[in-house]
Amino acid sequence: MPEGDTIFRTARSVGRALIGKPITGFRSNYPLLTRFHDDTPIIGQTVERVESRGKWLLIHLSGGATLVTHMLMNGSWHLYRIGERWQKPARDMRIVLENRDYQAVAFTVPVARIYTAEALVREKRIPPAGADVLSEEFDPIAAAARLRSCSGEEIGDVLLHQHVLAGVGNVFKSEICFVESVNPFCIVSALNDQQVAALIATAKRLVAANVLEDAGNTIVTYRGQQRRTTRSSSPQDSLWVYGRSGDPCRRCGTSVRHRLQGPDARVTFWCQACQPMPDGSDVDGIAR
Ligand SMILES: [Zn+2]
Repeated sequence: MPEGDTIFRTARSVGRALIGKPITGFRSNYPLLTRFHDDTPIIGQTVERVESRGKWLLIHLSGGATLVTHMLMNGSWHLYRIGERWQKPARDMRIVLENRDYQAVAFTVPVARIYTAEALVREKRIPPAGADVLSEEFDPIAAAARLRSCSGEEIGDVLLHQHVLAGVGNVFKSEICFVESVNPFCIVSALNDQQVAALIATAKRLVAANVLEDAGNTIVTYRGQQRRTTRSSSPQDSLWVYGRSGDPCRRCGTSVRHRLQGPDARVTFWCQACQPMPDGSDVDGIAR
């Protein structure tokens, strides 16, 4: 599953290729999209803005509509110069948007829809503008209020709620809690305001640190190795706790633990010594 920084990079690359230039070609094998195009031609419109909101990619068109895609596990957007050979088979193509210089091609994206501005605001599955930690409109005070509204839930799970903080994925969830010495199984109401503010600031910092400049401009993919760094630039020891169950904590040497968390049973890693529960109990509720 791509994390928010990957989608952000994709939005930035697709934006650089498409923004401000008239669309000269549009194709899709999604009937909803082609029907929209029949009624309101996309060709001739201009791409005004491309943004990521969590795992959603939004392409805003000059006619007021927005093309929204979600990649789930297997979808990807590729960018090609006109005439360049695709790196995936044509049968996997779902959407092509092109201008005189570039083709942006969505392969096997399972979710693709066109929204009017009003429908976009009403769509509850897409995080609101400004919820994405990488967005220029991101407001940490508003994020803290959204996080607080999940008072009875465990912080490790709440960090994944895309309506609270979009862009934080499962790797960063564990890393953020470790950096702030917060136990991921601690419920939100047990955190003080300083801890909430620090968690949000760290979420923004760690996700932003992974938004590196892309080496080339030809291909943007969600697949393949995405190296994540929250600690140092060396790939072998770039993460504090994620994926390190049984290994010694990099701060104190205690064995890192892991456990499934939340309704979606996502794996969480933590160090019980560095990240104690506020009441001193173990995460199983057993007092030590
Ligand atoms: Zn530790």
